[in-house]
Amino acid sequence: MIDKREIHQILDGYARDEITIATMGSHTALQILKGARDEGFKTLVICKRGTEEIYQQFGLADELLIVEEYGQFMEKKFLEELIERNVILIPHGSFVEYLSPTRIENELFVPMFGNRMVLEWESNREHEREWMEHADLRLPKGFNDPEGIDKVVMVKFPGAKGGKGYFLASSPEEFDKGIKELKLRDKERFTIQEFVIGTRFYPHYFYSPLKNRLELLSMDIRYESNIDGLSRLAYIVQDRPPEPSFVVTGNIPVVARESLLNQILTMGQNIVKASQELFSPGMIGPFCIETICTDELEFIAFEISARIVAGTNLYINGSPYSQLLYNEPMSTGRRISREIKDALREDSLDRVIY
Ligand code: AMP
Repeated sequence: MIDKREIHQILDGYARDEITIATMGSHTALQILKGARDEGFKTLVICKRGTEEIYQQFGLADELLIVEEYGQFMEKKFLEELIERNVILIPHGSFVEYLSPTRIENELFVPMFGNRMVLEWESNREHEREWMEHADLRLPKGFNDPEGIDKVVMVKFPGAKGGKGYFLASSPEEFDKGIKELKLRDKERFTIQEFVIGTRFYPHYFYSPLKNRLELLSMDIRYESNIDGLSRLAYIVQDRPPEPSFVVTGNIPVVARESLLNQILTMGQNIVKASQELFSPGMIGPFCIETICTDELEFIAFEISARIVAGTNLYINGSPYSQLLYNEPMSTGRRISREIKDALREDSLDRVIY
């Protein structure tokens, strides 16, 4: 793990009025860059060759750097160039996936918004479960032994990208069949989880250590293929319906019943508190809890994303909730830059950058 003192020393050497907000060109980069520009920062985007056009087209980055491979991002010389430009990096989903949590924690010696330790806690399923249990969230029932499967379960495995490869089973036989079809040998690596029936809500939170406040900025529902298309087929393919799959293809905006907001906020507060107890200084900045609300109006949580999520792209101009908190268009991307700006003013960058 990179020593935070090393990062803070680098930060001390930065020219305060030349700070540049930078991210990798993918996922939520447009939102992050726009938010940084709206807050008055210089902006930089790092693109893999072939992906730069969209960033040129929207013109939100003052500077665009091209790498041939994402691995180049981690080269010492490249990182030093970023430091010369007084760069603060903003991680997002693709950023974490392409560079890997371990490399970000151990090699990426450029100041980065947020607590690096959360990457390990969200990407390791056992840790993630411990975190959610510690926060007293209600979780789907887990099955250690496939022989015990007695209801519809979802079989998940590590490294699944956007739900790809997950399958459903309702008996030990169906589980075995699913595993065989996937041609995967090691059953132990699987997580078997009760398939919760209800409506999904993915609230987008922001925790500000400076204000010691948790904000509910927006919410979405993920649009997933083919499961979200199957309902349209029900009458056509009654005999042999295709196997459902859960590959994220987009996001739909949603608001929750107002009487549910209290529960939603409490879940977020509990996640922040648990993170502070488990890996101080805990969660900093944006995160999302993936939940399903049952007809008993109870939320079952099945995953945490401990960074900005792609569903926030719906709200580059603000959401119904962020409008109530801020009388200006406040996206999650902009909220990150606002926190950095506040920290700069209070001379406490070391509370939000690690
Ligand atoms: P995940 O990779 O955990 O985000 O899951 C991908 C998608 O699978 C989610 O967005 C949900 O639609 C669905 N899903 C995951 N876990 C469950 C569960 N326990 N019950 C019902 N649906 C789930």
